[in-house]
Amino acid sequence: MPMSIDFKQRLTPVLRDIVDTFGTPFHIYDETGILNTCDQLNQAFETINGFKEFFAVKALPNPTIMGLLKSKGFGFDCSSVPEVTLSVRTGSTGDDLMFTSNNTSRDQFQAALDQGCIINLDDISLLPKLPQVPELICFRYNPGAKRSGNSIIGNPVESKYGISHDQVLDAYKKAMDMGVKRFGIHTMLASNELNHTYMIDTADMLLGLIQEIHDSLNIRFEFINIGGGIGIPYTPDAPVFDIEGMASGIVKSFDAFEARNSWVPRLYMESGRFITGPHGVLATSVINHKEIYRKYVGVDASMSSLMRPGMYDAYHHIHINGREDDLPLKTVDVVGALCENNDKFAVQRELPETREGDILVIHDTGAHGHAMGFNYNGHLRPKELLLRTDSSVELIRRAETMDDYFATLDFEPRTLNPMQ
Ligand SMILES: *Cc1c(COP(=O)(O)O)cnc(C)c1O
Repeated sequence: MPMSIDFKQRLTPVLRDIVDTFGTPFHIYDETGILNTCDQLNQAFETINGFKEFFAVKALPNPTIMGLLKSKGFGFDCSSVPEVTLSVRTGSTGDDLMFTSNNTSRDQFQAALDQGCIINLDDISLLPKLPQVPELICFRYNPGAKRSGNSIIGNPVESKYGISHDQVLDAYKKAMDMGVKRFGIHTMLASNELNHTYMIDTADMLLGLIQEIHDSLNIRFEFINIGGGIGIPYTPDAPVFDIEGMASGIVKSFDAFEARNSWVPRLYMESGRFITGPHGVLATSVINHKEIYRKYVGVDASMSSLMRPGMYDAYHHIHINGREDDLPLKTVDVVGALCENNDKFAVQRELPETREGDILVIHDTGAHGHAMGFNYNGHLRPKELLLRTDSSVELIRRAETMDDYFATLDFEPRTLNPMQ
């Protein structure tokens, strides 16, 4: 079931009030749901010593939400200097920050090293380009043909990320020779994966690999990081990911590893979607109806608020606030105002007949939602709200304004005349 029933029950009676106060469109997140998911994850893996989730900042880069996650002991996985800066401003530094970048510039490494981030290197060729040799190095591993990928990330052989299997020993050997003392290993193979055994296989793959590396180079790995990619049920009939099943499988593998070696690495992961995805919705008002070859419901949000349907054909469940079982159903496309025909939140979807002013609730926008929005066609990104556990509603990001849109046009004039 997309969007938790509990969140829906708490949101439905107050949503009209929230809309009247703040105005649509907005994403609203559920503090209770987010904190519960953090607890669920921590509890599932509590028997693994040193388990830590590094929330993938790109999923929901909002400092208020990141503060909640930090309060549950989470670190942050960053892929850019602004994401590092955001995490530092949220109060995290050093080992709480993982810097997982690719095609990285020297300046980016320097900024990450300045904050003491764990450096997760995407390639061997980047080792000599590091401005300083850190004490701890992690490599991102790409298993190539040894694993099948999944539909969003794709086949590992075609993926630009990580070092290849043949390079692994060489990579760690080179790092040792440079004076690196502590080691981790990372991989990220899946996205929105609903089968928990795939994630167990990933942990097993990394445990097998660090065993091999240990046997050759005598490295005791400090951690394995199995990446993100745990899925959530976007469609009403999709299964809920079995996090407890994943944890018990991984715990077994860790126990077996420890029995063989008398040491074990820590377990790190960097989920984004699983942590916040179901705990956010996009609320948008119906402003127009149009009937040509198809019936269209026009809303006041557009792709600037949520790219996933237009970009990946992603399904996001929609209900009309307060009109749950209302018949008759009509088959409609729900559309924004962009001059792009993929600016649609739903295509040929059965919904109760809408009226202007109805509030549509678009589910599961708590990850890769607001964050992915863009300004194409002059559309501004919406505000973000937080439904607190005490049922108050807090503005946690304002909507973009015309001034924001024009901000980059405010600059000192510069001209080069190369031919003179
Ligand atoms: C995007 C990303 C994640 C998070 O992915 P989810 O599907 O949100 O769990 C984690 N790690 C890396 C390196 C990523 O690029």
